[in-house]
Amino acid sequence: MPRTATRLEGFTESVIRGMTRLANEHGAINLSQGFPDFDPPEALLAALETATRGPHHQYAVTWGAPRFRRALARKIGRWNGLDIDPDRHLVVTCGSTEAMMVGMMSTCNPGDRVIVFSPFYENYAADAILSGAEPIYVSLRPPHFQFDRDELESAFRRSPKAIILCNPSNPTGKVFRREELLEILRLAEEHDTFVITDEPYEHLVYPPLEHTHFAALPGAFDRTITCNSLSKTYSITGWRLGYVQASAEVIARARKVHDFLTVGAAAPLQEAAVAGLESPDAYYSELRDSYARKRALFLDYLRRTGLAHSEPEGAYYVMVDIGPLGFSDDTAAAEFLVRDIGVAGVPGSSFFREPEHRYLRFHFAKKEDTLHAAGERLLKLGKAGS
Ligand code: GLN
Repeated sequence: MPRTATRLEGFTESVIRGMTRLANEHGAINLSQGFPDFDPPEALLAALETATRGPHHQYAVTWGAPRFRRALARKIGRWNGLDIDPDRHLVVTCGSTEAMMVGMMSTCNPGDRVIVFSPFYENYAADAILSGAEPIYVSLRPPHFQFDRDELESAFRRSPKAIILCNPSNPTGKVFRREELLEILRLAEEHDTFVITDEPYEHLVYPPLEHTHFAALPGAFDRTITCNSLSKTYSITGWRLGYVQASAEVIARARKVHDFLTVGAAAPLQEAAVAGLESPDAYYSELRDSYARKRALFLDYLRRTGLAHSEPEGAYYVMVDIGPLGFSDDTAAAEFLVRDIGVAGVPGSSFFREPEHRYLRFHFAKKEDTLHAAGERLLKLGKAGS
C-alpha cells in the first residue's frame, strides 16, 4: 500500500470518543464524553417533527439556512450584546468542532504558531496539526487554573498567528475573568494575533460568576473568531449544529473552508433548531440552575470519596486526582473504572501537554438519578484507595 499522510502521525483518535465506545461495550455509566442523557426541550422536539414534513430535505444555503442565521443573530444580540449581520458575520457549521477547524484553516498558514492553554480540549492539538500550525502551550496552573502573565507574554513574543481560548473551559471548568480576557486582548493587539474562542458552555456559568463574551470586549470584534455550538445549550449534541461568528473579512474566508469541507449542516435540523434559539430568557436561567444542582450533587459524592478534585466554575467537567489510588497511570485507572466500578471517565493526560497522569475527567450532564447511581459506584473507589 502507498504511504498515507504523515500529518496524521502526530495525534491519535479522540480518547474522549474512545471512552464512550468502551463504556458502551461494558455497560458502564458514561461520564466521559460530555453529552446529556435527558431530552432536549419539548419545543425543539415539536419543531423537529414539523421540520420532517416540511420542504427542508435538500441542501440549505451553504453558510446556513437564512431563517436559522437570523434567529442566531437575534440570540447573539440578546445574550452577547453584539449587532450581528446574519449575512456577513456568520457561517453555520457541523458543531463547534467544524467551526474550530474552519477558524484555524481560515487564519493559519503551514508553519504559523498558535497559542493553546494546557490543559486543553483535545481537538485543538489535532486542529493545529491538520492546519499545519505549531502549537505553543501555556500552562493553566491548578488548583485555580490561572496562567502566568510572563509565560503568556513570552508565548506572544514568538509571533503566533492566533491564540485558542475555551471559555468556560473544558476540561478545567475555569471561567476566565474579564481582567484576564482584557490582558489577552491587550497582548493580541500588541502582537497582531487572532483570538479563536470556543464558547459552547457560555450558558453554563455558575453564580456569582458571569460569562464574558470575548468578541464583545472593546475593540475585540475584528480579531476574534468565535466558535460556538447549540449542542450543550439545547441538549442536542447529535444534531451537530454550530457556527463561526467573525468579521465580514474573516467570514468571507471561513465560508470557503466550510463550503469545501462539508457544504453545510443538516437543513431540517437548522429549521427545527430555530425553536431553541427563540427560547425565552427563563429557559437559560433554568438550564443553568439545573446544572448547578447536578454540580452540587456530583461534587458531594466526589467529596465523600475523599479524592481531591477541581471545583468547576462553568461547563460540566470535573478533574479528579486519582493519584492516591495507586494506579500505574490514568489510562489504567480509567479502564479499571469502566470494567470494575461501572463508571467511565476520560484519562486526564489526553488534555495536557505536560506529562500529567494524575487526573480523570468526569462530566455531570446527566439526570440526577444517573448521577446518584454513578456517585454510589464511585464511593466504592474511595474505599478501594483507603
Ligand atoms: N466536548 C465534549 C467533551 O469534551 C465532546 C464533544 C465531542 O465529542 N464532539 O466530552
